[in-house]
Formats: sequence, C-alpha cells, structure tokens
Amino acid sequence: MDGLPTQQSEEEELISIDPADGSEVARVRCTTRSELDQMVATAQTALENSGWKRLLPHRRAAILHKIADGIQREKDTLARLQMRDNGKPLAECKAMAESAIGTFRYYASVCETMETDVTPPRSEYVSLTVLEPYGLVACITPWNSPLMNDATKAAPAIAAGNAVLLKPSEDSPLLAPELARICREAGLPAGLLQVVQGRGRDIGAALVAHPGVRMISFTGGTHTGRAIAKVAAERLVPAALELGGKSPHAVFADADIDSAVAAVVAGIFGSAGQSCVAGSRLFVERRIYREFVDRVVKRTERLRVGMPSEPTTEVGPLASFHHRERIKRFVEMAKAEGGRILCGGHAPVGGVYDRGAFYMPTVIEGLDYRARACQEEAFGPVLVALPFEDEADLIMQGNGTAFGLACGIWTENFKRAWRVGRALEAGSVWINCYKISVTSSPFGGFKDSSLGREKGLGGYRLYSQVKSIFFGL
Ligand code: NAD
Repeated sequence: MDGLPTQQSEEEELISIDPADGSEVARVRCTTRSELDQMVATAQTALENSGWKRLLPHRRAAILHKIADGIQREKDTLARLQMRDNGKPLAECKAMAESAIGTFRYYASVCETMETDVTPPRSEYVSLTVLEPYGLVACITPWNSPLMNDATKAAPAIAAGNAVLLKPSEDSPLLAPELARICREAGLPAGLLQVVQGRGRDIGAALVAHPGVRMISFTGGTHTGRAIAKVAAERLVPAALELGGKSPHAVFADADIDSAVAAVVAGIFGSAGQSCVAGSRLFVERRIYREFVDRVVKRTERLRVGMPSEPTTEVGPLASFHHRERIKRFVEMAKAEGGRILCGGHAPVGGVYDRGAFYMPTVIEGLDYRARACQEEAFGPVLVALPFEDEADLIMQGNGTAFGLACGIWTENFKRAWRVGRALEAGSVWINCYKISVTSSPFGGFKDSSLGREKGLGGYRLYSQVKSIFFGL
C-alpha cells in the first residue's frame, strides 16, 4: 500500500474520494459481466418496444428538452456532487452543468430540424437519404468533466434514436447515475440510458467487445483510444475517439500582452490543467520571451489555490491523490531533462493543503521542444515555456508533437494569424482568445488527438447510419 486514499476497495466496488480533503463521498458497485449482458438485452428490448427510433423527431426533442429542464432544476446539487467527486472549483462545476443543459437543448433542436437529402430527381427514379440510429451505443467518458462529457455523448446519441450504455470513469462515478435518473424522470423510455460502472480494463473492455454494441464513442487518453480502436477494427464497428492534447499558445511580439498573459495563465491553470485543451506549451517570440514569461510567472504565483468550495479559489486540488503522484513524477522528469522550475513544482503544505491532493501551478523553461515534458500530456497544472525565432520556427516546434487538439495564437496581425492558424495542426484554433467552446461548433483534433468530431450537426450524424432509398417512378 502507498498510503494514499484509495479509489477502489475489493474487486466489485468503487469509492469516490473527495480530493479536497481525502474523505469518502460514496461507494458504487461495479457492474458484473452478467449484468452487462442483461443491460445489453434490456437496451435492445427497450429499443424495440419503445419505438424510440420511429418516434417523430419533435417528440424525441420534447423529451430532450425535459432532460435539460431536469438538469437545470438540479444544477446546483449536480455541481456540488461533481465538486466532491473530482475536486473542480464549484464555479467551474456550475459552468459544466450549464454546458450539459445547453447540449441537450441544442440536440433537441437538431433532432427536430435535421433535414433529409433528396437527390435531384431523374426521369425514372428519385432517391432520399435518411439517417438511422446504430442501435446500441457505448459511451465511455473520462473523469475531468463527467457531466459535460456524458451529455456531449448521450444527448446526440439518444436524439438520433439510439440506446446508450454510459460508462463513466472509475475516478468520477457519481454523475452518470444522476443523469440517467433525470433522463428517466423526463420520460426517456426505461432501458435507453443505462450506466455501466467499473474499471476500464475490466468492464470497459468487456463493453467495447460486446457483440450487442454497434458503435463506440470514447473520450479519454490516447493510449486507451488506440486499444479501443483495435477492438473496434476487429469487430468492424465505428469508433469515435476524443483523446489527449499538448496544445500550444503562440505569442507574437505585437500581441496584446495583457490579454495574452491572462489567457495563457487561465488556459493552462483553469481546472488545474485537467482539461484536454489545456494550453500546456507556451511559445513566445524571442524578443519578448523574457518579459512575457516573467509576467506569466508573476500572475501564476498570484493564483489562489484552495478549497474548491471557496468562491475565491482559482485552482482546486487535482482530481485524485494518484493523479497528483503522476504530476509529481512528470515534474521530476522535466527537471531531469534540464527544465528549470520558474514557479510551483511542489505540493503546498500546511492547513487544508495537508489533507487534499493539491499541487502548485508550475511553469518550467529551458527544455528542448523534443523533451518528453514538451511532448507528453501531463493533464495537470504544468506549463512549459519555449522561445521561437520566427513563424517557420514556431510552426516547426508547434507541430512537433503527436497531438493536434487545439492552439492559441496571439498577434494583432490578421494575415499572420490566418497563416499560422492554417499551418498549425489543431482541431480548434483560437485567435486572441482561448478555450471558447460552443455546442454548435465541431470539436476534435488532428493526429493522435482524435478520430472524428463531436458537437455541431456532425455530432448528431456521428450516431447515425446513412441509408439511401430509391423510388422507381
Ligand atoms: P482513460 O483513457 O484512462 O479513461 C477514460 C475512460 O476509458 C474511463 O471511463 C476508463 O474507465 C475507460 N477505459 C480505460 N481503459 C479502457 C479499455 N481498455 N476499454 C474500454 N474503456 C476503457 O482517460 P482518463 O485518465 O479518464 O482521462 C484523461 C484523458 O482524457 C486525457 O488524455 C485527456 O486529454 C482526455 N480527454 C480528452 C477530451 C477530448 O475531448 N479530446 C476531453 C476530456 C479528456
């Protein structure tokens, strides 16, 4: 035993630990293999008996709106539960609940308005292209933003007429059952959204391999995504994968420096860096490098690290004690590679810090862009700063990772912003802003960050199969 508060007991139970103080929040029983078989059968029966996929879209939309109403009514309770389940500051948890509400409303509208394509009629036939659900979809989510990630998958999947088996992370198991209850209370036919609990390597692996699952939607680490993709390839079922990132900020000398400093700090240290789009690599044009990085460090040192329930807290604890150990190892690795710690680089001590999984926001410089600390995702409050000489150098370094999820570009030169935005390999490009996310814009990444795109109209089509129907005339 390593003496850390543990998230698992015997084989069949998960323990949710509040990372702010190490206390136990709740215990959740893991789903067994035979229960999984039963859930698949229940979902298939529900699909057949409820007529969900044949229900007129506006009736499906009405239920999605009621689900949004249910989350709205309970949003404060849900936000508090998430805060205890994974340690995010309460304000952020409330924003996640708002996002879940918006997602259900958006896909209610999409479901109601999605059009059927008609090919130009020929003299002897006309053809219609219609969308049909896959049937049973496995939705697997990570621990960092459970309610928001669950909604991003469940809303379009059920809007498109599917049944869902939702598997939350073993490190944040408490929100998915609440969402399933709200869905039931809103009138979603029983069995159409069920929750599978347990560890990824056990029940998660059984879920993706289950012959009853016809489509897989996964958000999590790239390593896991690759393993799931192999199973999906063997089974010939589609897999949509939203994976990790090592997103760069590029700051040119002509940037609005005040705004850039604020956004760089918020972009990495919001959610204590536990965000797939965290701007974890900072590239600054060499002639302003020292001044800019010093300002980033000063602002970082002023961040209020504390209890997630305190309204003034800007950085809460990490989501688990085990994750803090990973971050400590990551920073040690950066030091061993020659990185200089400009601030942070340790867990705070004294008072509330002694009981929680806190780690100080950390800025590191002096590394080559090929160093492991500049290549691998920390998924924590760690920023690496590097200078660049010119556009070509920035693009070479910025694109020099396996990831390609997002990037931020800071310049007042519109043409340059456009050029660099097109050249950087990233699914989301934020120019003079960062982490803007709306449900109507597609979201995903290049290279090892993603396979497919969520959100937007494509997020609905993701859960639909295309059928062409020809009428002879
Ligand atoms: P993870 O890959 O360890 O786990 C994610 C989920 O997959 C969990 O529910 C887990 O139980 C399950 N799982 C694990 N192994 C499995 C297997 N073999 N078969 C089926 N399911 C399995 O990731 P995590 O640590 O929970 O989350 C952190 C990662 O998620 C980071 O890399 C982060 O960048 C990424 N993430 C990406 C996005 C995005 O939209 N691109 C959003 C949030 C988080």
